[in-house]
Amino acid sequence: MSQEISLNTRIIELGRSIFDGIGSERPSALSRNFWISKIMQWSMANADFKTNLFRLVDVLPTLKSNRAIVSHLNEYLRTPARGINQGLGWAVSPSSSSLRGAVTALAVKRGIHEFASLFIAGENPSSALGALRRVRADGLCFTIDLLGEFCLSEGEAEEYLARYIEAIEVLCHRVPAWKESQPILAGHPGEQHPVCLSVKLTALYSQCGPLNFERSVAVLSERLSEIARAARRGNALIYVDAEDAANNPIIFETFMRVFGSPEFRDFPYPGIVVQAYFKNAEASIRSLLKLADTRGAPIALRLVKGAYWDYEQVVSQQNGTTFPLFTKKESSDASFEHLSRLLIDQHELCLPAIASHNIRSLSHACIYAESKGVTPAEFELQMLYGMAEPIARTFARRGYLVRLYVPLGDMFVGMGYFVRRLLENTSNESFLRHTFFDAKAISELLKEPQLHEETSPYVP
Ligand SMILES: Cc1cc2nc3c(=O)[nH]c(=O)nc-3n(C[C@H](O)[C@H](O)[C@H](O)COP(=O)(O)OP(=O)(O)OC[C@H]3O[C@@H](n4cnc5c(N)ncnc54)[C@H](O)[C@@H]3O)c2cc1C
Repeated sequence: MSQEISLNTRIIELGRSIFDGIGSERPSALSRNFWISKIMQWSMANADFKTNLFRLVDVLPTLKSNRAIVSHLNEYLRTPARGINQGLGWAVSPSSSSLRGAVTALAVKRGIHEFASLFIAGENPSSALGALRRVRADGLCFTIDLLGEFCLSEGEAEEYLARYIEAIEVLCHRVPAWKESQPILAGHPGEQHPVCLSVKLTALYSQCGPLNFERSVAVLSERLSEIARAARRGNALIYVDAEDAANNPIIFETFMRVFGSPEFRDFPYPGIVVQAYFKNAEASIRSLLKLADTRGAPIALRLVKGAYWDYEQVVSQQNGTTFPLFTKKESSDASFEHLSRLLIDQHELCLPAIASHNIRSLSHACIYAESKGVTPAEFELQMLYGMAEPIARTFARRGYLVRLYVPLGDMFVGMGYFVRRLLENTSNESFLRHTFFDAKAISELLKEPQLHEETSPYVP
């Protein structure tokens, strides 16, 4: 008990020192320019404005004319904007045929583009080279993600696969030659491979789905193998992202089939993601650790809380099925800590990648690792590009390896990702919001989370 108390005390001490290190710095999305921070404030203060703004963001890439943009602006935002103030209501409701309408449409397009570029580093690997080099110059490493999910045709899936192969070739040709690619943390296995990719498997097969389980796994295994071969040629690392509850079993099975096969048994640290908000997350981790044991070479395990909570809730309600996720945010936080300890205890079978922007969650992993004699060269922290730069830099200055997840892609395919980040930043439960917007007390933010006894409200 006294050891537990002292561990918690040390977690809080590290957390406080991270807050001190951040000082008055703020993440881009909450500080970059006056209008962006105003829009975030309005979204957090007015739920109706937020929902309709995100509807507009979602539909914007498909709107081909200024008239269409103005008409959607009027329809979605006029009423909620008036609820904030009359001036804003007037500003978002020009007539679609007027000069003011054309200027407003242009401003909306440019504004959303600038906003999205806080979270998306470039349209393609070549145009993102400058941003990626700056990440490394900042003492951070990266994993890139090519935006795209749930493709609709095989043509799209094949194009996505080709984009991945091309991205590996471009990055593996350019990145290792940079002086910034010298290892940030000597001896860390991730730093023997300056290029790292994260892959969304559902975008690689148009017919992917639980009703087509076997075929989905077979096709995705072939396509993931192609990516893994290209990665091996270029000395790059791979993570496979976790997605929604319906597709995750396909994703896990594909990962196991490919990286458990004799061809890829020596592939270095193949990575996969587990979401701590699932009540069965521990079972998933244990079967992945078994795979690492059987293949005789470690894997990388990225632990996240999970990005699809609202979506899963709607699906579960619609289908009348048992809700597989925790329903209280604090339970997900507590599950994350429990699973971080499991990964750190098993660091010989896996490289723990603790992915969060929550200073409590991250400090917990760092202090627990220290208490077990696991050095910073044996695990890493991960964060999303544009979400929490001051937190990332402060942990990196303290000697931890921090990897940023850097999405690349054009506006059209990037909107789903962009909306998820906006939702995260503005959610009532968000650590970043409580820290940088609501200025909640640090003692509250660093409090040890408790797992609540939860029964599902959606059991039929
Ligand atoms: C490098 C990196 C890679 C990522 N890759 C993936 C991925 O492959 N797949 C994926 O799904 N996500 C991924 N994410 C996103 C991640 O799942 C979280 O959405 C995000 O990091 C926010 O969690 P947090 O710990 O930073 O913030 P916090 O504010 O501490 O936690 C927010 C999280 O709490 C959980 N939560 C919120 N409300 C509730 C509730 N009522 N009940 C239960 N739980 C709740 C949700 O998971 C929410 O995202 C990734 C994140 C990072 C940093």
